[in-house]
Amino acid sequence: MTCEEAQDLITALVDRELLDPERVSLESHLQECSDCRAAVEQQQRVKQALRESAERVRAPGALRDRILSDRRIFPAQSRRRWQDYIGPIPRPARAALAVALILAIAIPTFLLLKPRSEPIASAALKTYPLFATGELSVQRAENPNEVVEQLTRAVGGHFHPMGYDLSAMQLRPVAGLAREIQGRHILIAIYQGQGGTLFCYTFFGSEEDAPANAAKFFDPVKKINFYAFSQGSLNAILHREGEIICILASEMPMEQLLTLAKSKARPS
Ligand SMILES: [Zn+2]
Repeated sequence: MTCEEAQDLITALVDRELLDPERVSLESHLQECSDCRAAVEQQQRVKQALRESAERVRAPGALRDRILSDRRIFPAQSRRRWQDYIGPIPRPARAALAVALILAIAIPTFLLLKPRSEPIASAALKTYPLFATGELSVQRAENPNEVVEQLTRAVGGHFHPMGYDLSAMQLRPVAGLAREIQGRHILIAIYQGQGGTLFCYTFFGSEEDAPANAAKFFDPVKKINFYAFSQGSLNAILHREGEIICILASEMPMEQLLTLAKSKARPS
């Protein structure tokens, strides 16, 4: 792998979205190339700074759009000059500069607003419609073990997805996806079949990660709380097994989804 190829993949690596075999070849390049290693470290620092500031503040999308389209703040002419200027800057520095500019604009503006971050469960569920429209780059798989292995590798073996067998529901695993959302690694196993589409999300968390308006059901047999919530036409059930949160999300009726979650959940 050349340095240029490596540079193209570094962002995905830092975002932990890079899966084998690209991840393996990039990592072996990094062992030999101190320049690319430095670029990785720089991106990690920038990402950390960005994450820390994003945890404190969040602006409504409409406000952000208004700021970015305001010609008094960003006159059309000066934007062209800025793009000309950025040309000769090396790629890692360019990314860092872009982030610094975003932070410089975002922080003072957003600190004026009361922070109110979206529950991670709601943020995670936004991946579901993206899959339907083909906007999600997923790792296709043929069987449950393949999905579990891929996803476990993607988080360095720190935890693994639930790996449910849903063949009784006419659903089989077709793909896996590892995403970082709000600074947390989320594993997504995607099932499809005659029973429709079902996403199984797993991540480190607590029951606090359920949206505040979720309906809570206690299962006296398994002694587990189940939290039911909806987002558009999507129904979701969240429960906790030890430190791991599992969310099943599907367009199937809520009752059916709750029954399924209860039957698969294991007391921790
Ligand atoms: Zn290199």
